[in-house]
Amino acid sequence: MSGGPILVVGGGIGGLGAALALARAGYPVRLVEKARQFGEVWAGIQLGPDVFAMFDRLGLRGAIEEAAVRPEALDMRCALRDQMRAGAARVHGGA
Ligand SMILES: Cc1cc2nc3c(=O)[nH]c(=O)nc-3n(C[C@H](O)[C@H](O)[C@H](O)COP(=O)(O)OP(=O)(O)OC[C@H]3O[C@@H](n4cnc5c(N)ncnc54)[C@H](O)[C@@H]3O)c2cc1C
Repeated sequence: MSGGPILVVGGGIGGLGAALALARAGYPVRLVEKARQFGEVWAGIQLGPDVFAMFDRLGLRGAIEEAAVRPEALDMRCALRDQMRAGAARVHGGA
């Protein structure tokens, strides 16, 4: 590839993931983010088990596991009726 670095616009999960994957593949990358600083926005997010395959590929699993909080229990409920959702898993003892 000729020319300058690949420009990635936006430093959210998508942009940071793309920039990291491109950089690990040997491409020069420039990432621009309009926010003045990175930080927590509103809330943490739940990540399903399938995303850990990608963390492994990006070499991020150790850092993520250090920062992550693991719920001790998880109930999936209907927001309208406050009932356990049919077929939902109830997980206890760590997820
Ligand atoms: C309250 C809340 C709870 C959520 N909970 C979960 C959850 O539990 N599990 C889950 O998987 N997902 C969750 N999500 C969704 C998840 O956070 C988003 O899907 C994900 O963060 C989107 O990432 P993104 O990189 O595509 O976009 P964004 O995170 O929106 O990133 C886009 C970035 O681009 C920047 N940008 C925009 N325009 C420009 C520009 N012109 N120049 C430079 N920078 C620019 C923005 O400032 C931003 O930083 C939640 C979302 C919210 C709001």
